[in-house]
Amino acid sequence: MYTAHIMIDSSLCKACWKCLQVCKNDVLAKVNLPFHKHIKITRGNNCTGCFLCTAECNFGAITKIIDGGKKLRE
Ligand code: SF4
Ligand code: SF4
Repeated sequence: MYTAHIMIDSSLCKACWKCLQVCKNDVLAKVNLPFHKHIKITRGNNCTGCFLCTAECNFGAITKIIDGGKKLRE
């Protein structure tokens, strides 16, 4: 899952929801089923590239996309 600024690897997501709490632009949402919990992108066009979410994730599930596609893991 991508926006113009971040990539999410949902297989690494531990569903702590910290990224959801810091995103001010309503980009992210929960998949919160009994045995299937992870973050997803709902409004990718709203993403400003503030990278608050990447700073918050301790599990490497959100990656910055910078310099026209070069990816850096926080
Ligand atoms: S980079 Fe900023 S705007 Fe984009 S999803 Fe993360 S917290 Fe939200
Ligand atoms: S901060 Fe990381 S582990 Fe927590 S919900 Fe977001 S992507 Fe998943």
